[in-house]
Order: sequence, then C-alpha cells, then structure tokens
Amino acid sequence: QVTDTLAKEGPNYPSYDWFQTDSLVTIAIYTKQKDINLDSIIVDRQDDSFRAETIIKDCLYLIHIGLSREVQEDFSVRVIESVGKIEIVLKKKENTSWNFLGHPLENHHSLIPRKDTGTEIVKPYTPVSGSLFSEFKEPVLPNNKYIYFLIKIYPTGLFTPELDRLQIGDFVSMSSPEGTFKISEFQELEDLFLLAAGTGFTPMVKILNYALTDIPTLRKVKLMFFNKTEDDIIWRSQLEKLAFKDKRLDVEFVLSAPTSEWNGKQGHISPALLSEFLKRNLDKSRVLVCICGPVPFTEQGIRLLHDLNFSKNEIHSFTA
Ligand code: FAD
Ligand code: NAD
Repeated sequence: QVTDTLAKEGPNYPSYDWFQTDSLVTIAIYTKQKDINLDSIIVDRQDDSFRAETIIKDCLYLIHIGLSREVQEDFSVRVIESVGKIEIVLKKKENTSWNFLGHPLENHHSLIPRKDTGTEIVKPYTPVSGSLFSEFKEPVLPNNKYIYFLIKIYPTGLFTPELDRLQIGDFVSMSSPEGTFKISEFQELEDLFLLAAGTGFTPMVKILNYALTDIPTLRKVKLMFFNKTEDDIIWRSQLEKLAFKDKRLDVEFVLSAPTSEWNGKQGHISPALLSEFLKRNLDKSRVLVCICGPVPFTEQGIRLLHDLNFSKNEIHSFTA
C-alpha cells in the first residue's frame, strides 16, 4: 500500500517512498544510480529518530525522519543493484496502520557534497618500511619520525580518493596497531613462502626485511606476487635487485591480465602454480607460508595450501 511519494529537483535527484504491511514499514530509496551496494549505506535508528545516509557519487543523500510510531530495534537493508533501489525494512512495535511516516528532521531528503559532511571513514592499512633495503628495526623507537604506507588509490573508492586529496598539514586519525602476526612464527624457520596479490604485498615488506636480516636458520624465501598487469607490480625493480643481491630470495611475478609481450607466468592462484612453487628445501624443513590479497584470493589460497598438506601452523593469512 503506497501512501506517500516525495520528489524534489528533477528526474536524477534521489527520491524515496514508504509503504507498509500490518507489521512492517519499508522505506525505499531510489538512488537513480546503478553502482550502489550495501557498503554505500549507513542506517542509524535511535528512539523515534531514523537516519539513512546513502553515498551517491560525491554526495551523501540523507533521509532523516522522526518516525510517527514506534519500531523495534532490528531492521534489515537490501539493495536491488540493477536499479539502484535500497529498501530498509523496519518492524512495527504495534500492528497498527500508520497514517504518515513521520516528520522531517535536519537535512532530510537533501543531497550534501561528501566533503562537507564530516563523516568518519575507517579503513585498515599496513605500515611498510621506506624501502626493501631498510634494516629491520623493532620495536619502533619513539624518536622514529616516520611511518610509511603504500596505499593504492581507487578512483571510485570511498576513502582513498579522500586520502589522495589531503594536503600537508591536514590530519588523519590513526588507531593503535592491530593484528595477529607474531615474530615467534619465524622461530627456527628454514623456508619462507610469501603469496601476495596486489596491495596484499604490503605485509610482506616488513616480513622480507625481518626474514633476510634476523632469522639465522633461514635458507630460502620465495615470493609469488600476483597482479593484473606489469604496471601494477609494486616495487618491482627493488624486488629484482634484492633477489639479485641476496641469493636466498626468489621472486616470481604472475599476471592475470598481461599484455601479449609478457612471457612470465600467467593466471590466477591455482594448484599447478602452487605445487610447483611451494617446494620445501628439505623434506622436513620448518616452513611458513604467508598469504595476503583480495579475500577470494586468500580464501582460495588457504584451501589450496591445505590440499597440499600444509598444516594450520604453517600458514599465516592476513585478513581483515
Ligand atoms: P572502496 O570504497 O572500499 O572500494 C575499493 C574498490 O572496490 C573500488 O574500485 C570500488 O569501486 C570497488 N568496490 C567497492 N565495493 C564493491 C563491491 N561490492 N563490488 C565490486 N567492487 C566494489 N590497501 C592498501 O592500499 N595498502 C595497505 O597497506 C592495505 N592494508 C590493508 C590491511 C588490512 C588488514 C585490510 C583488511 C585491508 C588493507 N588494505 C590496504 C585495503 C584498504 O583497507 C581499503 O580497503 C582500500 O584502500 C580501498 O578503500 P576505499 O574506501 O578507497 O575503496
Ligand atoms: P587487484 O584487483 O589488482 O588484484 C590483484 C591480483 O589478485 C589479481 O591479479 C589476481 O591474481 C588476484 N585476484 C583478484 N581477484 C581474485 C579472485 N576473485 N580470485 C582469485 N584471485 C584474485 O588487487 P588490489 O586492488 O591491489 O587489491 C588488494 C586486496 O588486498 C584488497 O582487497 C585489500 O583489501 C587486500 N589487502 C589486505 C591486507 C590484509 O592485511 N588483510 C593488506 C593489504 C591488502
């Protein structure tokens, strides 16, 4: 039962509807964009105040309403990506018919440039060293002035374009470090295998620094680095120089979208690539495999490693 429709400036301006059944109230947002996904929406409901922020390109579309009747704590959100429609389903506290949805609160039904909104975005990043040739220094001393990051800018991403626009003197807040990797995993290590895809290379930087300087038992480090194209390979020449200088290190690049000139390895992570690459130096050598990249890459890699009889203790995956 559609009881109200609102529309503002022009056909491309987002709009919303609401409709109800005995027990549910559904708020439908028509973004007029096709690239909307669940990550683009933040819903906040407190007492009778209902707020939904939807990221639409460089703007934030806000629904902000004081609801006319009470609703329950839980609600659900679904997105129909093909038409850019978002449905937020609220559960009524009482099964009675609502005459109207509610009254508009601040900035309701408005499109605000994202740079003016002050929304907090939180994303994890992995500190790296200034170069692959830096000595490993741990713990970081308080007089160390710098922290290095290697961050890929996604032109359509939520956070990285903002980061890219920062000027010297601007501020970003940083949390204290989080993670599960322990240096003790390197104890008595003989063979270290690193499987990295794209920016999943970043945790491998300090691992490489540390392994090549601080693990006396280490015989071999092998990095298999998966990227789309040659241009995407982070720090390629440094990696090649390091492998040339330190014979314990081997580096292999695998491209999933190479040009016809590429005569190295191609494809995605696969049983064939891994079984050839992950040869232990000795039958019983103490090994560790570190893996990091897009979630499907890491998940598939872990499955393949188990198939190749690597135990849980021999695998460290970097995940969110
Ligand atoms: P997002 O808005 O998340 O989008 C990224 C890209 O994916 C864009 O091209 C976007 O269009 C596309 N996209 C978004 N959602 C979808 C979807 N549902 N379907 C298809 N495509 C979609 N990154 C680094 O560069 N360096 C690091 O050192 C680093 N360390 C990390 C450490 C950890 C523990 C984790 C979990 C991630 C790390 N990342 C790192 C990734 C980083 O946290 C961000 O995810 C990344 O920077 C993208 O953020 P964004 O907001 O700019 O892009
Ligand atoms: P990308 O899209 O350029 O892909 C790089 C390579 O990953 C591809 O060439 C391919 O070989 C592989 N790959 C991509 N999608 C795959 C799939 N569906 N199945 C199998 N293999 C696949 O990578 P990017 O844009 O640099 O993204 C890197 C990812 O690594 C991001 O998702 C980021 O969040 C993640 N990351 C995680 C951490 C962590 O500590 N957890 C650290 C850094 C980066």
